Amino acid sequence: MNTSIFIFAIIVLFIGLSFGSFVNVCIYRLPKKKQVLFGRSFCPKCKKKIKWFDNIPLISFLSLDGKCRACKKKISPQYFFVELVSGLSFLMIFLNYDNYYASFLLAILLLIYLVIFFIDLKHFIIPDVLNYGIIIVAFLKNFLPDLNLSFIQDIKLSLIGGIAGFFSIWIIIYLYKTFKKTEGMGMGDAKLMAGIGLLFGWQSIPFVLFLVGLAVYSIRFIFSCRSWTINGYAIFNGKKEKLKVTNPFWSIHYNRWCNLFLVWRCLI
Ligand SMILES: [Zn+2]
Repeated sequence: MNTSIFIFAIIVLFIGLSFGSFVNVCIYRLPKKKQVLFGRSFCPKCKKKIKWFDNIPLISFLSLDGKCRACKKKISPQYFFVELVSGLSFLMIFLNYDNYYASFLLAILLLIYLVIFFIDLKHFIIPDVLNYGIIIVAFLKNFLPDLNLSFIQDIKLSLIGGIAGFFSIWIIIYLYKTFKKTEGMGMGDAKLMAGIGLLFGWQSIPFVLFLVGLAVYSIRFIFSCRSWTINGYAIFNGKKEKLKVTNPFWSIHYNRWCNLFLVWRCLI
């Protein structure tokens, strides 16, 4: 490795780690409907502002042994993990692709999907701003020069994919409501799938549905339960609310698998 590539890699890693910190801010603030661009970070437990030298990606977490300096309460390993994933992904993306359009597109998508993944994991929701972000980016990529990625870059095919994605979930929601009188999935899932359709075309929709179905049913088979109903509670705007979804197992894993699938597809 020559020196200039090494320096480039260090800079890319640092930028990736910093964006990882920003992703953590988004994961914490977006479900609380707080803005993410301004305001200093603070400890979620004792609310003390975090000093800049305790806010260095990865290093601060390690040097403080995963605890807040002020209240000594444990900080979730998620903070470390997200920064690491973001940093390494930036390295992979920017060292693998010569095409800067492709690199920036993948980096933006990766960050949004990381935020979605962790918010969904904790709160069972996908904030609209994230889904719309993906939809806009996925639409705009049609106007970029040839990216040489597995994305569809034809406006017509991309739009057909987006519509197919949205309605594939909309139909499931409708059928669930009609026959089971419950909400199987939310509109967030439909928007998420619209984003996938816009990126990869309609062909990806049956594949994702199949993959997700396979995952759900094999997990059910392994744990030999017909349905895995968690009477889940989630915190919205600081207050505890019962989830509307009566069988969140399906919808939650649906989202997560979609996200994982996409992140994986993006990076390969
Ligand atoms: Zn604290």
